Amino acid sequence: MSERVAIYPGSFDPPTNGHTDIVERSSRLFDRVVIGVGRNLAKKTVFDADERVSLMRDACKHLKNIDVRTFDGLQVTFAREVGASFIIRGIRALSDFEFEFEMGNMNRTLAPGIEMVYLMTAPEYLFLSASRVKELVAFGAPVDKYVPANVAQALKAHSGQGGLRTGATEAND
Ligand code: ADP
Repeated sequence: MSERVAIYPGSFDPPTNGHTDIVERSSRLFDRVVIGVGRNLAKKTVFDADERVSLMRDACKHLKNIDVRTFDGLQVTFAREVGASFIIRGIRALSDFEFEFEMGNMNRTLAPGIEMVYLMTAPEYLFLSASRVKELVAFGAPVDKYVPANVAQALKAHSGQGGLRTGATEAND
C-alpha cells in the first residue's frame, strides 16, 4: 500500500501544546506528516516563518515521521506539492467548526481527492490559543504550562526585546 501522507497547515505563531498534541496524535495516524507553516498570511506575526519552522521542528524532534516547512498559498496546493492526500486541522470550539467547515468545503471543491481530517482538541487545550499565549507574555504572565519549553524560551527572549506587545495586539488566531 502507498504511504499515507498528511499535511498539518497553520500559522503556529507560536506553536502551543495544543498544536503539538495534534501533531503527536497525527504522527500515530499517518506514515508521514508535513507541518506547513504559512508564510504569506495577511496577519502580522510575532515570529517570522523561518523562526516558526525552527520552533516547531525543535518541539517535535522526538517524532520521527514529522517534517516541517513553510508554504505559500493554498493548503491543497501545498498538499499536492508534498504528495499528501489528507489535511489535518484541530477543532476547539463551535467557532473553529464554522471556519473549518467553510474552508473544508472550499478545499473539497478545489481538490476532491484530498480528504480533510479534523482532530478534536484534548480537553486541557480547549481554551488554548497562540493569541492568548502572546497576550499572557505581553503582560508578564508565565506561559510554561501552555507551550513547549523551547517556545517559552523564545517568547521570553522576544518580549525582552520589546517586540511582543506589538505582535500580540495585531496578530490573532
Ligand atoms: P490558523 O491560522 O491556520 O488557524 P493556527 O496556528 O492558529 O493556524 O492553528 C493551526 C491548527 O491548529 C488549526 O486547525 C487550529 O484549529 C488548530 N489548533 C490551534 N490551537 C489548538 C488547540 N489548543 N487544540 C487543538 N487544535 C488547535
